[in-house]
Amino acid sequence: VKPSLQSDVIAAVATAPGRGGIGVIRVSGQNLASFAELITGRPPKPRLASLADFLDEQQLPIDQGLLLYFPAPHSYTGEDVIELQGHGGPVVMQMLLARCLELGARLAEPGEFTRRAFLNDRLDLAQAEGVADLIDASTSAAARSALRSLSGRFSEQIHAWRDRLVDLRMLVEATLDFPEEEIDFLQAARAIPRLEALRTDLQQILRRAKQGSLLRRGLQVVLAGQPNVGKSSLLNQLSGEDRAIVTEVAGTTRDVLKEAIQIEGIPLHIIDTAGLRETDDLVERLGIARTWGEIEKADVVVRMVDAATGITAADHEIDARLPVGVPVIWVFNKIDLQGELPRREELTGGFGVWLSAQTGIGVDLLRTALLGIAGWESHDEDVFLARERHLVALREADEHMALALQFAAQLDLLAEELRLAQEAVNLITGEFGADDLLGVIFSRFCIGK
Ligand code: GDP
Ligand code: ZN
Repeated sequence: VKPSLQSDVIAAVATAPGRGGIGVIRVSGQNLASFAELITGRPPKPRLASLADFLDEQQLPIDQGLLLYFPAPHSYTGEDVIELQGHGGPVVMQMLLARCLELGARLAEPGEFTRRAFLNDRLDLAQAEGVADLIDASTSAAARSALRSLSGRFSEQIHAWRDRLVDLRMLVEATLDFPEEEIDFLQAARAIPRLEALRTDLQQILRRAKQGSLLRRGLQVVLAGQPNVGKSSLLNQLSGEDRAIVTEVAGTTRDVLKEAIQIEGIPLHIIDTAGLRETDDLVERLGIARTWGEIEKADVVVRMVDAATGITAADHEIDARLPVGVPVIWVFNKIDLQGELPRREELTGGFGVWLSAQTGIGVDLLRTALLGIAGWESHDEDVFLARERHLVALREADEHMALALQFAAQLDLLAEELRLAQEAVNLITGEFGADDLLGVIFSRFCIGK
């Protein structure tokens, strides 16, 4: 059951702070027609943009702009919404906002407009999260997949799956009431094959959600190697920009401990371990401690060596400090000096890529290898920008589906596992969302959304 609606009037500047051609104040609540009339001096026309003076208490214009009025329920929040589109200066916006507060609105909390949209059934929870994710998207691939969540494609798949589960549950529950006939009944209804198909499809959704969470969270890559093997040069090649400082002096990568780049829209966080050295500088030591924390979370380690020297004793010292059990890609750099060809070869404990960070030959082999390790299958149109909580819910549902299959012969246990699977999946779209869950989700929105 959804928490009850607050119906007070909320207002916020919906555009980004600072100066801009246009600034928008958004107001949501009940009976906003009279509210709009107090601001512009005349009744608003539903769903039409009208040029108006925005007036202060003394009926003096604060600004001139467009007024939009969306009567309930056909608005973003499902309540009456008005938008004041004025000039995008911070002072004008603050004066207009102050006027709205004077007329009885209060400042909206972060995400409160979207929260109301959710509470009024304009959006489900996964869609609401899509709104925030679209705004926060750091790559175009992430933005596209957030839009898929926002437009309800993710929710549709979850609902379709849930509805099939409900059908099966009804069958099982009905059979519970007629125990003598149970076996024939379930066999006739093909209960087991349906259960198996449901599990397969859930795992497919989970797989796509995992891909999507990769889009959101990115891949944590540790770049490790001795000084001068070409780590900074490789970073520059991968990012396509001269971001890291390349020098001939060993140990010069000091400030850049973590770089964000992207490959095919997947964000990669690259930690250049060159900065990890003994030092007396307190600030540097704090940075290094933080970096070790990041290294613990690595998805892949790129171990770089000079192709001419290969792996040496000093490299084994580096390896001893790296996280265990994480996939390793060896990079043999500077093949241009040897006149070697770029290639990929299997090695014990990983594989190697031969490339030149300076000329760029072979770097694409590394890009492909990184995406492969991430499990990224490009151009899957159904990848959803899943959040950790979606993955948790899907995994939990999957565990209950596994148990359901295991207990298929014991109807009461089967029924219970199916119920628990449904409960887990319902959390995704927020059908039975707890109030505190909603608080956590919406508090991360920006103001005015
Ligand atoms: P880092 O200390 O590991 O970050 O190494 P750098 O990227 O700073 O490179 C050290 C030196 O090696 C620089 O002079 C680079 O220009 C050079 N270098 C890096 N990669 C290559 C390469 O593939 N071929 C050649 N010939 N030189 C390279
Ligand atoms: Zn460097």
